[in-house]
Amino acid sequence: MDQQLQVLIDLQALDTKIAALEAELARLPGQIEAVQAAVAQARDGVQTLKGRLDQNKKDTRAKEKDLEVCQVKRQKSEARLYEVKTNKEYSAVLAEIEEIKQEKAKMEEEILALMEIQEQLAVEIRDAEVSLKTREAQGQQEEAQTRARLAAVEVEVTGLRGERQSLSRELPKDLLADYEKLLKNRGGLAVAQVLPVDVDGGGICAGCRMTLTPQRLQEVKQQSALLNCESCGRFLYWLP
Ligand SMILES: [Zn+2]
Repeated sequence: MDQQLQVLIDLQALDTKIAALEAELARLPGQIEAVQAAVAQARDGVQTLKGRLDQNKKDTRAKEKDLEVCQVKRQKSEARLYEVKTNKEYSAVLAEIEEIKQEKAKMEEEILALMEIQEQLAVEIRDAEVSLKTREAQGQQEEAQTRARLAAVEVEVTGLRGERQSLSRELPKDLLADYEKLLKNRGGLAVAQVLPVDVDGGGICAGCRMTLTPQRLQEVKQQSALLNCESCGRFLYWLP
């Protein structure tokens, strides 16, 4: 095989690897952020529940004060029963006491309902704290793994870039420039294999899927010179 073609094939293999690793390098920080965001969300969830519990406790205390006020009102009304002079007044005070009783019963019910919610919230907080702990531990592990991968990829990509640099010195400047231009304009693939088409013995460019002319296919199979796809311009090679 043409020596330059072999270098181009090897260079393409390196560039494909480098591109994949660079894509991973670009993706990994986002993964770390997503892990951190999930932990933060779990933490916010616990805080929200705790906030609701605090509010509930405040509401309960307020209702308990109202209940005390109600109790005093009732005692006063009951004391007045001994002071009234007429039956009419007596009935009026009795009605008032009845009204206070109902008010008190309603308050007691409300306090009970609040306390039930408190118990429920306490359970929810316990559960949320348990899953937060798990999430935090998982998050730390995932983050450490991702950071380790990030460091490993950086080392690998640095090594490959070094390899690429020394390999690229084996090509004439013009050819390297053509290759790099193709790489940039053709989605990271500058050197394409010609794939055989079994039906008719023809071949297609693996880069653009266009069928090669029989003449070009013959030339590519001989691999004695550098040839480009007539459709996409990529360097072509044939694997016997
Ligand atoms: Zn092509």
